[in-house]
Amino acid sequence: MSTERDSTLEEIRGSGVREIRVAFMDYNGLLRARSVALEHLPRVLEHGINFSSSGVSFNSRDLFPADASFDLASPDFWAVPDPATYRAAAGTSDAGEMYADLVEARGEPWPGCPRTALRRAIARAREAGLSFNVGFEPEGYVFRPANGEVEFVDSAKFATLDGLGSQPAFMHELLSYLSKVGIEVEQWTEEYGPGQIEVNLHYRAPLEAADALTRYRQAFRTLAAQHGLVGTFMAKPFEDQVGSGLHVHLSAEDANGSGINLFDGNDDPALGLSELARHALAGLLRHGPALTALGASTVNSYKRFLPGSWAPTHVMYAYASRAAFIRIPERETARRLELRIGDPTGNPYLFLAGILAAALDGIEQRLDPGPPMPGDVGRSGAGDAPPLPRTLEQALDRLAKDEVIRSALGSVILDEYLTIKRSEWEAFISHVGSWDRDWYLGRY
Ligand code: GLU
Ligand code: MG
Repeated sequence: MSTERDSTLEEIRGSGVREIRVAFMDYNGLLRARSVALEHLPRVLEHGINFSSSGVSFNSRDLFPADASFDLASPDFWAVPDPATYRAAAGTSDAGEMYADLVEARGEPWPGCPRTALRRAIARAREAGLSFNVGFEPEGYVFRPANGEVEFVDSAKFATLDGLGSQPAFMHELLSYLSKVGIEVEQWTEEYGPGQIEVNLHYRAPLEAADALTRYRQAFRTLAAQHGLVGTFMAKPFEDQVGSGLHVHLSAEDANGSGINLFDGNDDPALGLSELARHALAGLLRHGPALTALGASTVNSYKRFLPGSWAPTHVMYAYASRAAFIRIPERETARRLELRIGDPTGNPYLFLAGILAAALDGIEQRLDPGPPMPGDVGRSGAGDAPPLPRTLEQALDRLAKDEVIRSALGSVILDEYLTIKRSEWEAFISHVGSWDRDWYLGRY
């Protein structure tokens, strides 16, 4: 048994925890898990826990699409917990939590595993001499439950002191938990929406960043529920309120981790970007429509993309502008690319694997991003920048055709992702609800 496993077991035995939740994230961005009694953990660390592979063919309503590739006759996979991910679970002193990589019966990587897909993308970057850094900025709402619906917790306005003081017990517990499990928070704020909270997670290597975001999302929702609130990362809960985004800040250092930011440079003096950063930026733009399907992964995600909404509408980049698909923050701050397309509902392992592959493609092909777009798209127009996909279906069609992203995720993941997400789109498009009747029933 490895020393890492030994020392993790020792830590757990001394902590009073009695059960360990072993979790992996499915293609919908949902954590699937089983709980293991502490006595059985040594075996599970070695061999994993088996799951039916048909479980990853569920869509986000746990419905099984007719054309799913995994069915009840498909071989199981085993979720092998990564000892490095052991942390206390949020909201209980009895349980700990570990994230798993998925393997086949003989221990070979299972080709459907999202965390392994991100590991592969990281390894490819290392072969190219690079180690990326990722900082996530998740936004999410807390609401108060009200007769089967939700109501706003307050009417605090954007970035006010009142907003910071609005949910003191919940925020105290959330921030204490994050500090306890080693997730460094740079700052947090009351965002534009009432009860909308943004927490900025300090940058780290991609796998650790995805694990930390995953843990943050789980803690936010769990602790909100314990405080009588509904915590949600749904992209656009209300038509007349701003949506919740997941901004991704990307930079790179060399594969030995020198700590020198290789995106910093004067190859574009106005933006303070190196040649490497410019190529990475061009790669992200080229694969932008396909990445949209991974970052904005629900039907509802597309309702966030409105001109003037601080969320992007076109595939373009700009200096400082918050209307951009990729924002280049002010020259005086650390050099990085800020992708503003995603929201926090998706699977960050898949999204990051796609982002790394797109950036690397730009670097390897030495792509040129062209000039930044001036002004605010919402006011000055988008010039000849291509519009973003307007629906999940359009984005999935672009993802299906993107060979670079396909080869990064592998066809097993990519095709099943398309199947599941298309089933979500089909459910939406065939639903008849109050919108249809409001528009048509009395007029025709
Ligand atoms: N809530 C906005 C979004 O949907 C972003 C606001 C901000 O710039 O932080 O992306
Ligand atoms: Mg924000």
